[in-house]
Amino acid sequence: MSTRRPRRSGQPIEDLRCACGYPIRRYWAHCPDCSRQLIWRDTAGLAGAECPECRWAISPRFAYCPWCRTSVEEEGRSSPAPLKAPKGFRMDAYCDHGCGGGVQYPMPYCPWCSRPQQWNEDDKFEGDCPRCARGVDDWMDTCPWCGGDATGRHLIPKALLQVRRLLRVAKVSDWGYRVLLRPGVSGVDPRYPNIIEIEQRYVVGARRRDEIPWSMLVGLISHELGHSFLYHHWHWTRSRAFRHSFGEASQAYRVVDDAWVDFQRRRIAISPVNHVSGYAARHPQEDFAETFRFYVTRRGRLRELFAEFGQKRKGVIVYEKFLALHDYIRSLRGWH
Ligand SMILES: [Zn+2]
Ligand SMILES: [Zn+2]
Ligand SMILES: [Zn+2]
Ligand SMILES: [Zn+2]
Ligand SMILES: [Zn+2]
Repeated sequence: MSTRRPRRSGQPIEDLRCACGYPIRRYWAHCPDCSRQLIWRDTAGLAGAECPECRWAISPRFAYCPWCRTSVEEEGRSSPAPLKAPKGFRMDAYCDHGCGGGVQYPMPYCPWCSRPQQWNEDDKFEGDCPRCARGVDDWMDTCPWCGGDATGRHLIPKALLQVRRLLRVAKVSDWGYRVLLRPGVSGVDPRYPNIIEIEQRYVVGARRRDEIPWSMLVGLISHELGHSFLYHHWHWTRSRAFRHSFGEASQAYRVVDDAWVDFQRRRIAISPVNHVSGYAARHPQEDFAETFRFYVTRRGRLRELFAEFGQKRKGVIVYEKFLALHDYIRSLRGWH
């Protein structure tokens, strides 16, 4: 199962823009495009006060700033008991901790008891920030909540650089793919062919950054890139050359790559005879993704690959798969 959520259509409720021009939502702490810190002041005087610490709009009835957790309690102004929704604020839910006060989305803290609040953002965003776990969209570079890298790519810079280099050496032109670190599983959703999700547990769960099996990440990303490449060039799957080598790619299939250990191997497996790896025999789409992975990680060097196929007595069809891919990549370059 993928963690990806359906893209929301329609306009945001308010047409709010960052100073850089990018559309934003009220109470985001950072612009997801230019990373600028956003301050939601009480310019219209609707809420009645501003936090002395973060300067965001607050109610004079609050005991704590719901944005930065600073105590703003003042005798005669603050409410002696938790309220549901003082002027300028909405009650979207009761405080998670049962203090009886109301909280408005997306307050990170209760304005009455200061305790942290959890919001279900499944229907609001496409994924979760690998740093703070709040909702983020695929196109966001900066998390609107914590201001960190919303893609998680900063955690795997070496692997991404290596993959980019390999693609260049193999002469595969960039088709606009975007790698994102996300909780859940690794895979590509055919509805969003350019988004490649890599299970962040492999990276974030590692105790030290240099403990991550580097070859595994490069292999896994290359394999997922193969899925993305194929979805992006789906018309090619209808061609005779493709069908002859890989078969019927459109037969029912949901990509959920759970065997990442297999993607670490740089050498061609001896069996099965007609596929580059055991994993490739699962489905024509996996067959293609594995062929693509070997093509890229072996730098598009067909002669070297074919010599290895010879030693391992691979079937003729394996050569044909690589030739089909090689020809197709070359034909793409011819057009650009
Ligand atoms: Zn901006
Ligand atoms: Zn504050
Ligand atoms: Zn509370
Ligand atoms: Zn975040
Ligand atoms: Zn796969």
